[in-house]
Amino acid sequence: MSGAATSLLSLTNVESAYGPIKAIRGISLDVMRGQIATVLGSNGAGKSTILKTISGIIDPRKGSVSFNGVDITAQDPAHIVQRGLVQVPEGREVFPLLSVLDNLQMGGYTRHDRDGFARDLEMVFAYFPVLKERSHQDAGLLSGGQQQMLAIARALMSAPQLMLLDEPSLGLSPRLTKEIFEIVVRINRERGTTILLVEQNANMALNAADYGYVLENGRIVMEDTCARLREKEDIKEFYLGMKEAGARGERRWKKKKTWR
Ligand code: ATP
Repeated sequence: MSGAATSLLSLTNVESAYGPIKAIRGISLDVMRGQIATVLGSNGAGKSTILKTISGIIDPRKGSVSFNGVDITAQDPAHIVQRGLVQVPEGREVFPLLSVLDNLQMGGYTRHDRDGFARDLEMVFAYFPVLKERSHQDAGLLSGGQQQMLAIARALMSAPQLMLLDEPSLGLSPRLTKEIFEIVVRINRERGTTILLVEQNANMALNAADYGYVLENGRIVMEDTCARLREKEDIKEFYLGMKEAGARGERRWKKKKTWR
């Protein structure tokens, strides 16, 4: 990429709540065009809420979300997909009684370019050959890893500029997690798709992403390039499980034993 990176997605002071529960408070972050950004945080830190607020599933109480320089705060989720921003939800959520092919067609429902649709179908089959082999089977018969692949492939069928990925490693073996992360990185490098990834698996996320935000109790407590985050003592001890970094970690991280 030539020149300075520009921001594709920008959150400014975003606050979202479920009734009285403030799930995220004052979140400001940027995802640079062409990069992979990650939000790390333990169970309940507010990661999914950030993604749902971006994709219009939840309306924020305060703050704004801008995509490609346009204010998309609280817009209808279908409009946001049409603008080129798509979310792969936590737990896949494929349509189990539809075939793999029908699921992929659902992913492309907002587009009208038949040539582009056919080309992208071949593209997702090239990234995920198993989906081509099983294209006429019900999605509910796929394994967990294959369903995650289908969920990513379905999102790609909308030809997104930005893909939000909610915990792609959830419930998958280390081998499958590695395989899926490798494909996600290839999609970013080969297609230029910008990605915002939220993960509890800090090791995988910090290796795949360019820039990272650490979320604790709904607030961002740290941000840096992933190369620098990987070297920080707190991150090594509590997020990457490296014991030798132990003694010097700050006390406030001591509760983080739930990290994988
Ligand atoms: P996980 O990894 O478990 O998905 P997360 O970091 O994605 O965690 P969120 O799902 O964003 O966290 O949840 C943030 C906070 O909001 C938590 O305290 C959670 O209990 C609460 N919360 C999430 N969804 C709801 C809901 N539908 N109703 C009420 N509270 C909710």
